[in-house]
Amino acid sequence: MIWLMLIIMLLLAFIMFKSCQRVVNLEKIDYPSYVSQQYIDVDGTSRSGADMRMVNDIVIHYVANPGSTAQGNRDYFDSAQSRVSAHFVVGLDGEVIQCIPLDEQSAASNDRNGDTISIEVCHPDSTGKFSDVTYDRLIELTAWLCSEFGLDEDDVIRHYDITGKNCPKYFVENEEAWEQFRRDVKEAL
Ligand SMILES: [Zn+2]
Repeated sequence: MIWLMLIIMLLLAFIMFKSCQRVVNLEKIDYPSYVSQQYIDVDGTSRSGADMRMVNDIVIHYVANPGSTAQGNRDYFDSAQSRVSAHFVVGLDGEVIQCIPLDEQSAASNDRNGDTISIEVCHPDSTGKFSDVTYDRLIELTAWLCSEFGLDEDDVIRHYDITGKNCPKYFVENEEAWEQFRRDVKEAL
């Protein structure tokens, strides 16, 4: 009888332990060397500290500030006036800065913040088109995230697909370029 109770207690402890575990296990993630982790401070807005509920999609954005750098955008997210953020910013030279841990929500994708990873992408001019080196790195980063979270190119979406916002501009205004991007991600998987 004592043994039975002990087993039940152990089982309950195990179930409680499992339910406390986060959806994303950071220890299981193997980061590429090009990712520079510079987490912004938890401030309740741009970094709410809220747990990621699950990861269903990866959302691509453009910074909408031509010529701005990954570092500049990351530092803006960290500033007092910012209420937004993204998990990653891909820069003009293909550099990648991670601003939010993958087990926490970013503030980028409206009501999909709870189940998506967000990537902001820098661009040289107002067309919003990414440079070749930025584009290549974005494919690499997106394909890596897909493989980490068991996703594929169909799970890569635009901010536009959530809210209808013209973001990322070039991929909204050039549907074929967007389809090509998804094919390139598939190729890189
Ligand atoms: Zn956006």
